[in-house]
Amino acid sequence: MINPAITRDLVLAMPKTDLHCHLDGSLRLSTILDLAKEQGITLTAHDEEGLARAIHMGEICDDLVDYLKAFGVTLSVLQEDWALERVAYELIADAHADGVRYLEIRYCPVLHLDKGMRDTQVVEAVLSGMERGQREFGVDSGLIICGLRNIDPPTSLRLARLAVSFKDRGVVGFDLAGAELDHPAKDHVEAFYLIRNNNIACTLHAGEAAGAQSIHEAIHYCGAHRIGHGVRLVEDGSLLNYVNDRRIPIEICLKSNVQTRAVDDVSQHPLRLYYDAGLRLAISTDNRLITDTTVTDEYLLAASTFGFDFTALKRLTVQGFKSAFLPYRKKKAMLREVTDILDEMGGAPVAQLDEQFQTRRPS
Ligand SMILES: [Zn+2]
Repeated sequence: MINPAITRDLVLAMPKTDLHCHLDGSLRLSTILDLAKEQGITLTAHDEEGLARAIHMGEICDDLVDYLKAFGVTLSVLQEDWALERVAYELIADAHADGVRYLEIRYCPVLHLDKGMRDTQVVEAVLSGMERGQREFGVDSGLIICGLRNIDPPTSLRLARLAVSFKDRGVVGFDLAGAELDHPAKDHVEAFYLIRNNNIACTLHAGEAAGAQSIHEAIHYCGAHRIGHGVRLVEDGSLLNYVNDRRIPIEICLKSNVQTRAVDDVSQHPLRLYYDAGLRLAISTDNRLITDTTVTDEYLLAASTFGFDFTALKRLTVQGFKSAFLPYRKKKAMLREVTDILDEMGGAPVAQLDEQFQTRRPS
């Protein structure tokens, strides 16, 4: 079948996943202002424009640590259960408007305890917003609890316990986020033992602000089932082959990687190399607000930078679904559903896409 020209409308209409999306980095500007007003919180900016500047929305930051500062603003208005419920619901709505069929939302519950909420209340509030969104928009979703590298390991263990207590009740995985450099994942290994001993999936941010060794640690100490970013996997061919052979998905967040200076320029990102090597990839947003992006934007950027045609975008979309922390049967059913839609749209049939042995197509 002929590849249709890649347009925004076409990419928007593709059923997609967003597997790496931080709740506290993906609010609407207008909602931050509303929530601040409703709670009597004084922000440094009083309109959307000023607020966008204050959080460096879409701007290049000094590094990951500088980028993470914006979360101080968003977290200040997310200390009440109703506020969390609202932003989770709105995130599902925004994902729906972006053509996302399946969304995994992640956040760190202990960052929401300033006004006395209990750990469980923080999780229940978000799950309740997600359920409301799912009912209204038909977007399936799962929640990932994040430990943070720059917070002490006992807190990660406490968060892992929290994830275990919500297993099969909306929580689908555990993550390690936060400042990567000088905060090795292996310090948090106990949390990951607990997670894996309870048969829960895990992903770790790794190879974003530190080298391939950090990815090695995420996989071999913590048992990562997916890797967040993995930009620097390219530095270790042996590990890259291992990740490829084991089909460990990499959550790719192009715009965010430019913003945190994980890459100097989007054209320097190893996405094309990963794709040609046959790695399993999941194009994701990271932070819809702070990075000023959507999954549609990320696909368009990938296509324009690396010359992907529609068939290649289909392959990436299918890989997104394959990478999801979904029960196998549900994943199969969802893949069947999206395959029909994607094949209707054109390009090579999904059944013929063989991600393992893909080689660069002549352009
Ligand atoms: Zn992230």
